[in-house]
Amino acid sequence: MARPLPPHDRRILCTSCGGLLVVAYEAKSVNCSHCHQRVICEALVIRDYVAVRRLRTANTVHITKKGNVLASIWCESLTVDGRLKGEAIALERMTLTRKAEVQGDLRAMCLTVEEGAILSGTMRIGPEHIPQHDAGPQPAAALPDDAEGASPRSAS
Ligand SMILES: [Zn+2]
Repeated sequence: MARPLPPHDRRILCTSCGGLLVVAYEAKSVNCSHCHQRVICEALVIRDYVAVRRLRTANTVHITKKGNVLASIWCESLTVDGRLKGEAIALERMTLTRKAEVQGDLRAMCLTVEEGAILSGTMRIGPEHIPQHDAGPQPAAALPDDAEGASPRSAS
């Protein structure tokens, strides 16, 4: 059986402005064509203590068993095997395994919580609660978006 080759590009949302971008699968970062901010596109694996204000990638985030994250996370999909304190948005799926300890508000397209996971915070799950890949540029949740007018490119 002939298999189609995997697509070379993928669609992501800018982690600053929420605008739709098409990037190569292997890209580690790109500059957003909407807001010109750098967008991290690589998968992150967190194995120890990380405290930052924002942890954003247009890819997967995995907090391992020894991971302990104090941050506001934005990602495509999130797996928590360790600890997370802070809000998290996953545009696709979020998985809290039985070792997870999460304190914060979660938003995701879909959520899996294994038996044993500890969770305190609100959950908003479903397509109406997250920015969509196919909805075009839009302000991402709680992000300042000072783009003006409908012109897709600046006049420089
Ligand atoms: Zn942007």
